[in-house]
Amino acid sequence: MVEATDLRVRTLGAGRIRSPLGGLVTRHGTTEHYVDEADRVLFDDTLAMLAARTGEPPSFEPGGPRRQIFFHPSTVRVGIVTCGGLCPGLNDVIRGLVLELTSHYGVTRILGFRNGYRGLVARHGHDVVELTPAGVEHINEHGGTILGTSRGNQDPAEIVDHLEQRGVNVLFVIGGDGSMRGAQRITAEIAARDRRIAVVGVPKTIDNDIPFIGQSFGFQTAFGKATESIRAAHNEARAQPGGIGLVQLMGRHSGFIACYAALATNDADYVLIPEVPVDVDGFLPHLRRRVRERGHALVVVAEGAGQEYLEQIGSDASGNKRLGDFGVYLRRRIVDEFAAAGEEANLKYIDPSYLIRSVPANPYDSVYCLRLAQAAVHAAMAGRTDMVVGTWRNRFVHIPIPLAVSTRNQVAADGDLWMSVLEATGQPASFAGTHRATAVA
Ligand code: ATP
Ligand code: MG
Repeated sequence: MVEATDLRVRTLGAGRIRSPLGGLVTRHGTTEHYVDEADRVLFDDTLAMLAARTGEPPSFEPGGPRRQIFFHPSTVRVGIVTCGGLCPGLNDVIRGLVLELTSHYGVTRILGFRNGYRGLVARHGHDVVELTPAGVEHINEHGGTILGTSRGNQDPAEIVDHLEQRGVNVLFVIGGDGSMRGAQRITAEIAARDRRIAVVGVPKTIDNDIPFIGQSFGFQTAFGKATESIRAAHNEARAQPGGIGLVQLMGRHSGFIACYAALATNDADYVLIPEVPVDVDGFLPHLRRRVRERGHALVVVAEGAGQEYLEQIGSDASGNKRLGDFGVYLRRRIVDEFAAAGEEANLKYIDPSYLIRSVPANPYDSVYCLRLAQAAVHAAMAGRTDMVVGTWRNRFVHIPIPLAVSTRNQVAADGDLWMSVLEATGQPASFAGTHRATAVA
C-alpha cells in the first residue's frame, strides 16, 4: 500500500530565486500560472480507499512552474540523455525540453549526451552535442531519437565524474524502468558527494508498464500503429477458408498494447497477455471450434505471453531476460493442431514490433510529450531531484523514482480493462477446463 512518505519528492534546497516566467499578458490583464506549493493531488480515488486510511492520506506533489526556483537560469548547464529501446515521442520530449529551457527560463547551455548512459562515461569517447532551438527544429517529425540510445550498465561514479567535468547541474533522463534505476544510482552518487545536481526523468515505456505515471507517452501511437497489423491479419483471415490471423504485439510483461489495439479494432477473437496464464492445450480446441463455426479467427498475442511454454534464452546487455518467441511457438502449435484434426487452416502471422517502436508520435502523444517535458523542466528548475514526471487524475505530478521503479504496471486479471477485452472477444476467462467441452463439441 502506498503511504504519504512514499510520495515525498527530494529537493536540492529551497527555491530562493524568483522565476523568470512572469505572468502571461492577456487582454484580460496579467495571469499567473504558478503552482501553489501547498496544493497536493490525492492518491486515492475512491471514498472507500480514503476511509481505509488511518494516517495522512497520500498525495502527489503537482507538476508545473514554481514562483520561486532553486537554480539561477544563468548558472544552469543541462544534460539530456535517452536510454533503452525506442518509443514514439522521444524526439518530441527532447525538443520540448530544449524549447522550454531556452524560451521561458533563458537557459542557454544544453548538452545532448549520445547513445544512452554509455555517452555519459567519458572514456567511451562519444561526442556530445550542443542542443539549441534551431538544432531541434523538426526533430519531432521523425521517429527514433536524435541522441541515440544504448543498453548496458555503466558505473554511476564515472557518470557523475563526467557530469562534474562538464559542469552539468541538471540531468534529464528519458528512459524506461532500467534507465530510472540507473538514474536512482546516479542521484545516490551525487548525494554521496554532496553535489547540487538535479536528476529528473521522463519515463518512456511503450508497453505502459511503469506504475503511477498515468499512461506513458508513445503508448497511444503504439497501439494505434498496431491496429494496422490487426486489420491486415483480419482481412487475410476472412479471405480464405480456415483463415487464421495471428498477430504478435509488444508487451514483455504487460499486455496493454495487445488489449488496447484489440479493443480499438474490436475484431479479435482471442487476446493472450502475460498477466493471464495461457492454457495452450485448452486454447487450441477452442480455436478449432471457432474456425469451424465462424470460418475464420483472429488471435492477438503480447510477446511476453505463454513464456512457461518456452525456454529461457539468456539476458540482454542491460540484464533484461530475453523472451522466447511465443507467437512463433503458437503458430506451430496451431498448424499442428489443425493438421492432426484433419481440418483446414490458412494461418497468416504478423509481428510488427520494430515498425511500431520507430514511428513518430501521433498528435495526442506529441502534446503529451511536450507537456511532460515542460513539467520536467519546471521540476528541475525548482530543484527537485530523483523524480519522474507523470499524470494522476489528469494532473501533472512528480513521482519519486524509488516509487516508480518499485513495481510494474500490469493489466489486472480481475480489472475492468481485461473484462472489456473478454466481453469484446467472447473468449473464456480461462481455457483450463475447456478441453473436454470443446473436444466433444
Ligand atoms: P526499455 O526497457 O523500455 O527499453 P529501459 O530503460 O528499461 O527501457 P534498459 O536497457 O533496461 O532499458 O536500461 C537502460 C539503461 O539503464 C542501460 O544502460 C542499463 O544498463 C541501465 N540500467 C538498467 N537497470 C539498471 C540498474 N538496476 N541500475 C543501474 N542502471 C541500470
Ligand atoms: Mg525496461
